[in-house]
Amino acid sequence: MPGEGPLDARIMLVGEAPGKDEDLSGKPFVGRAGKLLNSVLETVGAERDDVFVTNVVKCRPPNNRLPTMKERDTCRDAYFNRQTETLEPKLVVLLGRTAAQAVLGADSLGMVRGKIITQRMTKYLCTYHPAAVLRNPKLREVMIEDLRLIRSA
Ligand code: URA
Repeated sequence: MPGEGPLDARIMLVGEAPGKDEDLSGKPFVGRAGKLLNSVLETVGAERDDVFVTNVVKCRPPNNRLPTMKERDTCRDAYFNRQTETLEPKLVVLLGRTAAQAVLGADSLGMVRGKIITQRMTKYLCTYHPAAVLRNPKLREVMIEDLRLIRSA
């Protein structure tokens, strides 16, 4: 599942891996987490249709288990890095720990969340994964505050 969105998008959103709904439809973030993502984007004044949405891991891990480090890093090197090089977004938004770990090598999301980080000439913003917000709705406001930073991109 490669991802979806305009090839000239200024903003690229990156999740973990496709879930069941995404695997069936071939589109990223179409299930419950996707609905939450859409509503948070709307709150900060961003249109889902204007952003490119993808995942660091391109195939659904069996039973939605966490991707292994090997799966994660193999997909990152084979596809994700090349996608960012090709699309050249102004800002890459990393949703959750798997994406933040794979792309920035961050050990914990808390250390990198909520600020713009520039690495290798690319700007990154890390925030919670929408599934984490579904589990803990108190995080929604924090995710909204973090994503307000995309307006500066
Ligand atoms: N969770 C993800 O990380 N990505 C999706 O596309 C859907 C759910």
